[in-house]
Amino acid sequence: QAKLSGRNHYQLFNPADNQLNIEKQQLLHDIRQGLQSNEFRLFYQPKVNMTTGEVFGMEALIRWQHPTRGLLTPLKFLPLIADSELEIEMGQWVLQQALQQLQLLHHAGYRISISVNIASYHLQSAYFVETVEAMLNQYPDISTDYLQLEIVETSALGDIGAITKIIRKCRDSLGVSVALDDFGTGYSSLTHLRHLNADTIKIDQSFIRDMLDDPQDYTIVDGVTGLAEAFNRQVIAEGVESVEHGLMLLLIGCENAQGYGIAKPMPSDEVLPWLAHYHADPQWLAAVDLLLS
Ligand code: C2E
Ligand code: MG
Ligand code: MG
Ligand code: MG
Repeated sequence: QAKLSGRNHYQLFNPADNQLNIEKQQLLHDIRQGLQSNEFRLFYQPKVNMTTGEVFGMEALIRWQHPTRGLLTPLKFLPLIADSELEIEMGQWVLQQALQQLQLLHHAGYRISISVNIASYHLQSAYFVETVEAMLNQYPDISTDYLQLEIVETSALGDIGAITKIIRKCRDSLGVSVALDDFGTGYSSLTHLRHLNADTIKIDQSFIRDMLDDPQDYTIVDGVTGLAEAFNRQVIAEGVESVEHGLMLLLIGCENAQGYGIAKPMPSDEVLPWLAHYHADPQWLAAVDLLLS
């Protein structure tokens, strides 16, 4: 090592990098193990129509109940498995869980859709459409359009032609619905909007967060809402945290919202009790009436 790391030489390897690598390998091992021993959970966050107060959907969001590190959010572990077999395995687990929850909701009488985030690597993997179809076939009494796939439109989406084909198959053959997630953050939103033929556009929370103070973000939210209307797509605002955000969105014409201001993501066993107790605040509905009259 002395020789290789001498003056004007690069080290062959950095002991610190190696340590990092060992930690990563350990984590990957833990994730694989965790999948087998059921340490992952889906949380659910409601989607609400702000004019009627109706809950029309829930987004499934993965968490890792780690044996020693507590409840971990996706950012702590999803990047590690990006573009790997493990990501596909986890994606399939998520779909299975979400469909079970969908059945639970429907048996309880709630006609609510569930959306699932799909990694682009998973979406483009072999037999994706066939696998989803096989899963849906296990729930013959649930109309397939209650399942929604949320696709993030980033450069990572890759070959737009190939992806368009997969999404078309999901929509046209399977009848599942498709949403463009984090809309506006990818580098060619408009192309995607046109070609992917998605049912729903989710306006990224970064635009919503600052729209009250930042005229440019306001303009983006306003513009995307108008665009969605023109293209006949449903539009949802993500990250709606306050009454002020909600009212501003209604003035713009965006009725659908998801965010801490309505409900935080909750564990699956809290979903039915939450739905049973939920009702839109009468004061809110009165304010909306006034605003829109
Ligand atoms: P996303 O799909 O855009 O999900 C929205 C994220 O915003 C969630 O973070 C949610 O908890 C958070 N959020 C919701 N309302 C608010 C709000 O009012 N304020 C703030 N500050 N945040 C809010 P989470 O659960 O940490 O997920 C982060 C990302 O990880 C997701 O972004 C999605 O891209 C990815 N992800 C989550 N679950 C899965 C999964 O099962 N599979 C895949 N492939 N990706 C997932
Ligand atoms: Mg999402
Ligand atoms: Mg999003
Ligand atoms: Mg996001």
